[in-house]
Amino acid sequence: MTNTSPRLPSAAVVREVGLRDGLQSIATILPTEQKREWIAAAHAAGQREIEVGSFVPARLLPQLADTAELVAYARTFPDLFVSVLVPNLRGAENAIAAEVDLMIVPLSASHQHSLANLRKTPDEVVAEVARIRAARDAAGSKTLIEGGVGTAFGCTLQGQVEKSEVLRLMQALLDAGADRVSLADTVGYADPAMVRELFEAAMEIAGERFWCGHFHDTRGLGLANVYAALEVGVRRFDACLAGIGGCPHAPGASGNVSTEDLAYMLGSMGIATGIDIDALLALRQRVARWLAGETLHGAVWQAGLPKTFAAPAARPAIAA
Ligand SMILES: [Zn+2]
Repeated sequence: MTNTSPRLPSAAVVREVGLRDGLQSIATILPTEQKREWIAAAHAAGQREIEVGSFVPARLLPQLADTAELVAYARTFPDLFVSVLVPNLRGAENAIAAEVDLMIVPLSASHQHSLANLRKTPDEVVAEVARIRAARDAAGSKTLIEGGVGTAFGCTLQGQVEKSEVLRLMQALLDAGADRVSLADTVGYADPAMVRELFEAAMEIAGERFWCGHFHDTRGLGLANVYAALEVGVRRFDACLAGIGGCPHAPGASGNVSTEDLAYMLGSMGIATGIDIDALLALRQRVARWLAGETLHGAVWQAGLPKTFAAPAARPAIAA
């Protein structure tokens, strides 16, 4: 079907974060070799943006201890846009040395979540982003800095997070030198009306520098929230294959929207992602085998694609 709605885009990017957000929250430690297979198969299925890990000390997240190796591997695919998460300057220095395309610095708009998760206040994270920007520029590096504002709709520790505080911190990240900003519903508190309101305001502040919507499907509203963000102009979404993951500091949180279901929804709406969903479903089967015993999510893998489904042929040309 052709997308005729003037409010919806003709293309969108699905950024795979299963290797980071997904794997960091489950017990299974996936061997490096299987992660490499995952990256190669995701690329073969048409995915062009992958968050491959996080530069945190291995003792904190042994699941992601091989991030440097995975960055080196992912960079062998010339058209793959490689990102990592970095919690601080130390991690950013590793990301710059590894020549990743983009590093995401998480900031939690919830004071309590920020202290529990990062041991810093949100404003201390903003100051760290300024130091990261200085280090990046001093190194002559091209690595982009994304400031990701998490717990943007509330959190399990603090409860309410004010919209004005989320937007203040987003502006502060841009002022501190973040090249891109994004919003995350870390614990799945958002509904589509909340998403429309907050993302519309965020787009007004950040314009072209607004980068990504990150939705967890904790209460089943992940895809509805993606749709609401699409309507206000967001063009890039994080997703985890098989919806794996959660948040170690947000009890009960399940994973991100599942990559295959998101790619299906977008494709069915005539929005090009460049993703071959059958290839993605085949990869999902392999990952499910590797993660035997873990809770997986998603719907399309059970029912298969509708007979009437025809994905848009075009590959999205959304520049970094
Ligand atoms: Zn997340």
